[in-house]
Amino acid sequence: MITERIDFKKNSVEALGNPKLKKALVNFTDRSRASRQKAVSGVSEWEELRSEARGIKEEVIKNLDSYLLELEKSVTRLGGKVHWAKNAEEASAIVVDIARKNNVKNVVKSKSMATEEIELNRHLISNGINTVETDLGEYIVQLCDDHPFHIITPAIHKTKEDISKLFSEKFDVPEYEDPQKLTNIARKELREKFLSADMGISGVNFAVAETGTIAIVENEGNARLATTFPDIHVAIMGIEKIVPKLKQLSIFLSLLARSATGQKSSTYVSLITGPRREGESDGPQQFHLVFVDNGRSDIAKSEETRESLYCIRCGACINICPVYRQVGGHSYGLVYSGPIGAIITPQLNDPQKTADLPFASSLCGACRDVCPVKIDFPHVLLSLRQKVVEETKGRANLQGLMEKIAFQVWSFVFSKPFYYSLTGRMMVFLQYFYQKDNELRGLPYPFSKWTKEKNFPAFSRKPFRKRWKEQYHGKNGIMR
Ligand code: SF4
Repeated sequence: MITERIDFKKNSVEALGNPKLKKALVNFTDRSRASRQKAVSGVSEWEELRSEARGIKEEVIKNLDSYLLELEKSVTRLGGKVHWAKNAEEASAIVVDIARKNNVKNVVKSKSMATEEIELNRHLISNGINTVETDLGEYIVQLCDDHPFHIITPAIHKTKEDISKLFSEKFDVPEYEDPQKLTNIARKELREKFLSADMGISGVNFAVAETGTIAIVENEGNARLATTFPDIHVAIMGIEKIVPKLKQLSIFLSLLARSATGQKSSTYVSLITGPRREGESDGPQQFHLVFVDNGRSDIAKSEETRESLYCIRCGACINICPVYRQVGGHSYGLVYSGPIGAIITPQLNDPQKTADLPFASSLCGACRDVCPVKIDFPHVLLSLRQKVVEETKGRANLQGLMEKIAFQVWSFVFSKPFYYSLTGRMMVFLQYFYQKDNELRGLPYPFSKWTKEKNFPAFSRKPFRKRWKEQYHGKNGIMR
């Protein structure tokens, strides 16, 4: 649960001061964007797939209540049990309760943003239940007592050297340089955990209402082990993850793999349909599915922002975002980062504590262009910004007041040619005191905030209007 206001600006300044992080971010996001682009360009009907997926999501979110009931019925018919959680605390309490009733001591988890959202590990561990992340990136993050940096690749902020040092400290091994050796160490450690686990916890990429099937997509095989080795499987899903029909699943699987990692298909796609049945040799004895609302049904009611729930957590918007590429995942304060974090976090949490996030965007729209379900980010962000402004109205807010005055002055000057021209001439005169090599330097506050970080080109002594007249002077301004 969020306890303090997320100070996006302060967090970003810290991140910007870390050159190692900046390099890692640019390298990772460049690679991801290139592989996504390559994978997408090989699919001639890509746009049709996106539209179809969006159409399905629209239908699901509009009729979420009936699809959830249908899914519950299907899962129950197969011998599974569905639990409904209103909020994060309730969801975690349900899982702890299942663990207690079954005398569970050891839990293995596969990567799941929903479990990060509800801080499940903290609850399990504080109740004396050993809980281990088994996705390699998540495992590294857990060993460092850190938070994921990206929804697909949680440990991109860690270098090979960081991991080598970490493993050496934790497992008393030499500091290996070779990534293969490091992976082998993690594999050996994790195998032991799988073998001794009483319960496996996973997320859900998609849940099919018609059949009660849950789909889990991954590349390491750890989710498959976590959901089949232990006797109990608990799957945690945000209530928006529904797909109505099994035949529609292939559309989403195709979009997800290409958008997330540039693969045609993820290495492992597990379709789980209830617990082990009579005569089957493996699979869990118990299957529990936890529906997590945690603010989602309120989002579904809003016509302006409900499309935030169409997200399939591919991370493509994050990789393309010019803001994320500079400041990274931790600047967004909670588990979801980049454009999806900027729209979903304020809606799932206290809007006052997350008020910075809808402003963490240049509104360039690149996220909308890559999103496989065509979420119109600029529209949602503007709507959330409007809410923030309305909610802070009337409260003493010096920055807001100054911005308001500045925009009113700007609007007045730009709409009156006389004042526009006069302002231009005044600027040219005033810049005499600050100009150096065709740049303005050492400007007074508040302009100094800009010149501290960026260049400010000097105003031309001859304004554009004058040059236009000289160059193209003719009747009615027609070019000579
Ligand atoms: S908002 Fe769209 S692009 Fe971003 S993670 Fe979700 S599905 Fe992917």
